[in-house]
Amino acid sequence: MPDSGIMLELCDFLKISVNELLSGEMIMAESYDKRAEENLLAMRREMEEKNRQMLRMEYWVALPAIPGGIVLVFVAAFAPMPAWLRALLIVFALVMIFTVAFMAVGIEQKAGYYACQSCGHRYVPTYWQTNLAPHAGRTRYMKCPACGKRTWQKKVLTKED
Ligand SMILES: [Zn+2]
Repeated sequence: MPDSGIMLELCDFLKISVNELLSGEMIMAESYDKRAEENLLAMRREMEEKNRQMLRMEYWVALPAIPGGIVLVFVAAFAPMPAWLRALLIVFALVMIFTVAFMAVGIEQKAGYYACQSCGHRYVPTYWQTNLAPHAGRTRYMKCPACGKRTWQKKVLTKED
C-alpha cells in the first residue's frame, strides 16, 4: 500500500485512477462505482481494525505497568531496605507510572474518535484535552467542538456510525 501522499502522483504517472491502484486492476466504467464503494469499505475496515489494535495495545501496556508500579511504591515504602535503595525504587516506580499513563492517553487519543452524547459529532480531541479530562475507562468528560456541550463522550472506532 503506497503512502497516500504519493498516490496521486503515482496514478498520474501510471495513467490509472486511484481506485484502480487500490484494487490492483483496470476497472471498466460501469463497475467503477461499485468498486469505489468496495475500496472505501475496505479502507474503513482497515482503519477500524488498526484502531482496535491500538486500543488493545493500550491495555497491554497500561494494565501490567500501572498497578505494578503502585505495588512497587508500597513495597519500597514499607519493606526493610537501605534508604538509597528505597528512594531509587520509589523514583523509578513513579517515573514508570507517569510515562506509561501519558503513553496510554496518547494511544487512546489517536486511535479512533470520541462521540458527543449530545449531538453525535465524532472528533479527535487534542492530547491535553484528552489527558486532563475526567474519565471512567475510555469515556471522557469533554467539551464537544461542534455543539459546545460538556458530556461524557464515548470512544468509537470510526468517524461515521
Ligand atoms: Zn456535540
